[in-house]
Amino acid sequence: MSGKRILITGGAGFIGSHLSERLLAEGNEVLCVDNFFTGARANIRHLIGNPDFELIRHDVTFPLYVEVDQIYNLACPASPVHYQYDPVQTTKTSVHGAINMLGLAKRTGARILQASTSEVYGDPSVHPQVEGYWGNVNPIGPRSCYDEGKRCAETLFFDYHRQHAVDIKVARIFNTYGPRMHPNDGRVVSNFVVQALSGQDITLFGEGTQTRSFCYVDDLVEGLIRLMNTEKGVTGPINLGNPNEFTIRQLAELVVEMTGTGSKLVFRPLPTDDPRQRQPDISLAKAELGWEPTAQLREGLGKTIAYFDRLLKEEGAVGQSA
Ligand code: NAD
Ligand code: UDP
Repeated sequence: MSGKRILITGGAGFIGSHLSERLLAEGNEVLCVDNFFTGARANIRHLIGNPDFELIRHDVTFPLYVEVDQIYNLACPASPVHYQYDPVQTTKTSVHGAINMLGLAKRTGARILQASTSEVYGDPSVHPQVEGYWGNVNPIGPRSCYDEGKRCAETLFFDYHRQHAVDIKVARIFNTYGPRMHPNDGRVVSNFVVQALSGQDITLFGEGTQTRSFCYVDDLVEGLIRLMNTEKGVTGPINLGNPNEFTIRQLAELVVEMTGTGSKLVFRPLPTDDPRQRQPDISLAKAELGWEPTAQLREGLGKTIAYFDRLLKEEGAVGQSA
């Protein structure tokens, strides 16, 4: 698995930066492509200067000509706040980005993995979600640019596979969290931790009874690498996530307990089309990849809280000296 030249689109983002680190540590060359829409140079600063790491500022909606063995296609804003900021660009990133990267895979013969999402199941009526479930997605709502963009990307992956024999892998990623999430990206774990550490109210949308299942980033990266290195013909889609399900209220209470904050829980309107429940069935990942998550929520949250605590103190120090 080492000694490969690997392209990671969205490599300066939250998941991409952890994946870059892992693949470099395993002796590969990593080419990180990012337009820095939600990613940050700070996420990969420690990798710059490594002779096996190369960074290109590039938008995947435009073609890219490089020579690589493997492609992890992660480029796409992932938080509702960011993907709804410029929804047309979000759809373009998923669809044109997939076409461009699949074209690159076709020309070079590279294997390509798509970072798809549990959002392809929409507000699911099958619970937990299995890969054979086709989903319940609103095609015209505010979340559609992301959900339908990712669904169309999956379609393109399977058509390039059937029509052009491109060697594809499709991972359906469920809510993943950890250090290097964007502090203002509006996702629930980063929001609650930042709110708790800075003494602000903790904002629960709706009554906080909706559920999510949270996977720590190191576990997810392990799953992605295992999927990428399965035999040719194992295409997925395969769910990758932690099957332990929590209500959003339970998450908020755990963050309050672990940070020791005096912040209050407050309730805000539930966003349109917010899925009521989400939990991966990971039987396929267990069988095909021998994979299941090892970090439980309390452990992963501990590391995430420590990260944001450091970040907020550094920002405070910069603010005071400015
Ligand atoms: P992120 O926003 O931190 O990372 C996305 C990266 O893509 C950023 O660095 C961003 O600058 C870059 N990007 C966006 N548009 C681009 C474009 N047009 N060209 C080049 N780069 C572009 O999000 P993340 O959580 O690291 O997510 C990574 C991938 O995993 C995304 O495709 C996301 O849809 C998928 N995913 C994530 C989760 C999760 O819970 N984190 C869940 C399901 C799927
Ligand atoms: N959420 C919340 N408060 C926040 C941010 C999010 O209650 O400050 C809720 C949100 O409505 C959703 C869940 O937490 O039900 C997960 O939201 P996130 O944006 O992290 O991911 P997604 O909805 O894409 O799973």
